[in-house]
Amino acid sequence: MSCVPFFEVRRLHELNDVQGEIDAAVLRATRSGWYTLGPELDSFEAEFAAYCENAHCVGTGNGLSALELALRAHGVGPGDDVLVPSHTFIATWLAVSATGARPVPVEPAEDGFLLDTEQLESAVTARTRAVIPVHLYGHPVDLDAVGRFAARHGLAVVEDAAQAHGARHRGRRVGSGNAVAFSFYPGKNLGALGDGGAVVTDDPALADRLRLHRNYGAQQGYDHRMQGTNSRLDEVQAAALRVKLRHLDDWNARRNRVASRYTAALAGVPGVVTPDVAPWAEHAWHQYVVRVTDRDAVQARLSAAGVETRVHYPVAVHRTPAYAEEGFGADGGLPRAERLAAEVLSLPVGPYLSDEAVDTVTEALGAVLAPSS
Ligand SMILES: *Cc1c(COP(=O)(O)O)cnc(C)c1O
Repeated sequence: MSCVPFFEVRRLHELNDVQGEIDAAVLRATRSGWYTLGPELDSFEAEFAAYCENAHCVGTGNGLSALELALRAHGVGPGDDVLVPSHTFIATWLAVSATGARPVPVEPAEDGFLLDTEQLESAVTARTRAVIPVHLYGHPVDLDAVGRFAARHGLAVVEDAAQAHGARHRGRRVGSGNAVAFSFYPGKNLGALGDGGAVVTDDPALADRLRLHRNYGAQQGYDHRMQGTNSRLDEVQAAALRVKLRHLDDWNARRNRVASRYTAALAGVPGVVTPDVAPWAEHAWHQYVVRVTDRDAVQARLSAAGVETRVHYPVAVHRTPAYAEEGFGADGGLPRAERLAAEVLSLPVGPYLSDEAVDTVTEALGAVLAPSS
């Protein structure tokens, strides 16, 4: 039986001996004697901003913190509401809660995964200060629609691009906006050797506030201008990320090839819904997510056939104990998020996967879903 693991960072680094390049970069950083807010970070920030077709990048300790600091830099705090997708990773909500504001969930479009821009309008109140479009699984949200909505109501737009490094929106990179938060968690499309994150922005004043926030409120030394925090992207991570950034487009192209092969092979398989791509979007394929009924049984049978899958995410955020007491979605008010939590299944989409490995997955899924089985 040939086994297909879900995702292995080690195999990604083996492609074209990226591991050798990472080793050299890490050695350079560890021997430099400079470990935070140094030249590797400066270079990575300039290179990642350029990659995103934007002006400024501010590295942070992780993606959750990038989101939180972006919200704070926009003045979001206690008493404010922030519109968030009901279907997302919990970090999107936690970032809002960390500022003292309240996350207000908005459902995805019917038969989609992403925030429904048509439903944003009815979620706005006098307390609403910002909206967080999440480019979930690597597919960009319709930023033109979000931008028009936000401008109408005077809201800040803080994008959660933790899963969308390299995606494009009507030809423009995800990351070319006003406040775009990225995560460099090792499993993301661009991952560090541990935790990391960044905010990319076109606004020099916002970038300055973010640099204060991440460093105890000080630009340098003990000149504390505000009550900041400590959330920095360290030199070793920045050095590794500079190497991996150079391979990101190749890796995303490989993910796209895997995804296309899945979609073609699964087109004729009854009982599985494959992911759509908007005609204006370039998908980063952080995850290839199908929907099936009886998901847990399908996942168990795939596992028995040697195909490892994951679920992003098994419990809707408002149903987790972390948020259950806030009462969102009481009386079944967030049915789409709950249905997605029950039906989504992520197939392996590692850039190193061979055509044979992809075929192993689709054949196993076809066998599991076959009416006679
Ligand atoms: C990974 C992720 C985050 C948080 O990033 P960390 O670096 O793990 O803190 C936020 N939002 C989404 C959608 C994510 O996938």
